[in-house]
Amino acid sequence: MATNLVQDLAKVVGARFVVSATEALRTYDADGCVVDVHSPDLVVLPETSAQIEAVVKLAAQAGMPIIPRGAGTGLAGGATPIRGGLVISTVRMDKVLEIDARNSRVRVQPGVLNWDLSQHLKSHGYQFAPDPSSQKACTIGGNIANNSGGPHCLKYGFTASHVLGVKIVLPTGEAIWTGDGTPFGPGYDLTGVICGSEGMVGIVTEAWLRMTRLPEAVRVVLALFPDVETACATVSQTIASGFVPSSLEIMDRLTLKAVNGMYQLGLPGRRRLGAIDRGRWRDRRSGQPDVGHRSHRP
Ligand SMILES: Cc1cc2nc3c(=O)[nH]c(=O)nc-3n(C[C@H](O)[C@H](O)[C@H](O)COP(=O)(O)OP(=O)(O)OC[C@H]3O[C@@H](n4cnc5c(N)ncnc54)[C@H](O)[C@@H]3O)c2cc1C
Repeated sequence: MATNLVQDLAKVVGARFVVSATEALRTYDADGCVVDVHSPDLVVLPETSAQIEAVVKLAAQAGMPIIPRGAGTGLAGGATPIRGGLVISTVRMDKVLEIDARNSRVRVQPGVLNWDLSQHLKSHGYQFAPDPSSQKACTIGGNIANNSGGPHCLKYGFTASHVLGVKIVLPTGEAIWTGDGTPFGPGYDLTGVICGSEGMVGIVTEAWLRMTRLPEAVRVVLALFPDVETACATVSQTIASGFVPSSLEIMDRLTLKAVNGMYQLGLPGRRRLGAIDRGRWRDRRSGQPDVGHRSHRP
């Protein structure tokens, strides 16, 4: 049955895009969470929604479980084929299909990388706001399935707030659109069901996403606090005052040390606090006093 399935899958996607060699299958034996590792029986790399529909129908006929996979950066084991089965990878489905500026939306395939999408939209004055730290590697399909967030989500909301409708291939191989690609489409909020469903409902093969206008200006402020509690209290006060920054990150002393050690950014530690207060701290790379950085001592 497996041989027949390999041949049938090859007819749909091309023999090059069916992976069955034992060593090659090990590439797909886990995602970013390597606690549980298990090789799939087969991997297939389709290029279109129609191919995914055909692949899912073949898997259903063969009684083989399917596991959708984007870039495999997930940290929850969602793309790990823990009981074997057929991994359906979307990495070849990396096209931005349509920009609809009049309705501030963009239609994409699921394998588009989060970072690539924002870069693509930049020249149009837009961004895709959700920005998981893995954004240079992770895919939109994975973002939708995990309802991923990032620093921007404080202001703009998680991925679910930016998905207007998806085309999804159900376990039967039937493809449906959820919603009509507008924020207030009629009917049940099936898009909401898909966001965060971790690939358990079906495979997202296309999506209408909200485009968010780029801010007119961006200002980075670095503030230093004597302890994490004070920093957290200041975050709450800032938001309560009605000002929501487009992103906020807190780094404790250990993290600052680690980041400096790894990237030589010269972020100020305890000893530099006084220098900053006196306006004497200079950006290590530019040598310029960084007026955008502020220290804070309550
Ligand atoms: C260094 C690092 C930093 C990270 N930072 C963040 C962060 O800041 N915020 C955050 O939320 N996460 C973060 N993550 C986790 C991960 O990157 C995100 O969850 C990301 O959205 C996963 O995308 P992916 O393409 O790698 O998906 P995968 O890992 O391939 O898959 C994730 C899940 O989505 C399903 N899936 C994938 N594609 C589809 C599809 N087309 N249709 C249906 N289901 C699908 C899979 O079955 C699986 O359940 C980080 C991971 C790493 C390694």
